[in-house]
Amino acid sequence: MVFDYYKRLSAKRQSIYRQSDAIIAVKLPDAGMLRAPAQALVEALKLEDRTTVQRLSQQITDGIIGQLQVPPLRIQVLAVRPSDDWGELHGLYLPEEDGKTAKIQLWMRTAKHKRVVAYKSYLRTLLHEICHHLDYEFYKFPETFHTEGFYNRESSLFHQLVPGDSP
Ligand SMILES: [Zn+2]
Repeated sequence: MVFDYYKRLSAKRQSIYRQSDAIIAVKLPDAGMLRAPAQALVEALKLEDRTTVQRLSQQITDGIIGQLQVPPLRIQVLAVRPSDDWGELHGLYLPEEDGKTAKIQLWMRTAKHKRVVAYKSYLRTLLHEICHHLDYEFYKFPETFHTEGFYNRESSLFHQLVPGDSP
């Protein structure tokens, strides 16, 4: 299945889209070492401990980056999610620019209710943004698209980190 916007892309971008869509999993050489920090996020989020959430998120990211041997990525965890008419921003990926390390910004609380983001949705957001980084740095796509393959890769990372969990 291709998403609707595919039709509006140029032939060149459609080809990138199809390459992205064709890869449905990211295999980590050693997902086991990332399960403890992923699990520890549950408690850190519950305690609203931003420093620990950031440290654990960075640890998970460094593990994935290191295992796949791609350039580094800095994680910044902020307090309340920005919101707009279109909804809330969950995470933001800022690619490397002018020699500055690529960065992911994540938010700990929802804008609407100022509630702490649920663990699964937090971890999924982190992995989602990491997948954008992998599109550029691991798969070397000139562009990163939300394809079904992209979402499958995000899920595949999630299930390696949180085995036995339902989708
Ligand atoms: Zn995205």
